[in-house]
Amino acid sequence: MTAGRPPLSYDVFTAPQAPFSAPPPRVGDPPAWDPKTSTLIFGARDAVLVDALMTVAEATALADWIALHQRQLTTIYITHGHADHFLGLPVLLNRFPEARAVASPGTVQQMREQSTPQVLDNRIRARFPGQIADTVTLAEPLDTGHFELEGLPLEVIETGHTDTVDTTSLHVPDLGLIVSGDVAYNHCHMFVAGTTPASRAEWTAALDKLAALNPAAVVTGHKDPTQGNPPSVLAESRGYLEHYGQLREAGLPDQDLFDAMVTRYPDWVSRQQFLILG
Ligand SMILES: [Zn+2]
Repeated sequence: MTAGRPPLSYDVFTAPQAPFSAPPPRVGDPPAWDPKTSTLIFGARDAVLVDALMTVAEATALADWIALHQRQLTTIYITHGHADHFLGLPVLLNRFPEARAVASPGTVQQMREQSTPQVLDNRIRARFPGQIADTVTLAEPLDTGHFELEGLPLEVIETGHTDTVDTTSLHVPDLGLIVSGDVAYNHCHMFVAGTTPASRAEWTAALDKLAALNPAAVVTGHKDPTQGNPPSVLAESRGYLEHYGQLREAGLPDQDLFDAMVTRYPDWVSRQQFLILG
């Protein structure tokens, strides 16, 4: 931080758990999407948003909240290509037309693949009928691994295959802050259903890469809204992956695997079959 300049700040918006239409699951809670976060990082005049939420109602509430901060929104950074982190973009860009949506080239490619009409209709619109914007807006690919907020660097950390491929986190050195996207979760069951031993090893390495930055705070893409943003979520997420991997490799039947995870993590939110078993 340069002497005399006001420090950056950040604030976190959490969209609550969102029930959705689906056949009843075999195990766990009734179908609901886990609580999602969007983080505003701001200086004296400008602001950067990380992730854009999913439904029109969520993005509209988020836009109102951003406006309360009375900063110029210059950039919206998307951490990875999952629809729950970027389908709110058209609503936000309509409200803040000066802002530019950006992401890593790998994330932009994933956004494109995960927002084809077929994928969106099957995975998202069927679950949230009438709640998703008609248009899809992609981010522009960043040609460098960083961008700026009021002259201070925001660094893209490439985290590879975590809960999907080509994921990233955003590091704000001046704040000791990492906005992790879905690389880490905060007291919320993790989307581990599609993982393999190799992908869990890559995910664990990504958590270690973030921990090596020695952050003071970590905002995760999904969290229990009652929790703060401590860096301990990195070690907790690592432990969750390890425990899940051991049970999977032991060949536990689905029902037993699910029961073992919710028993081990009794206070974690979003006890959803689709996250743990698919
Ligand atoms: Zn997510």
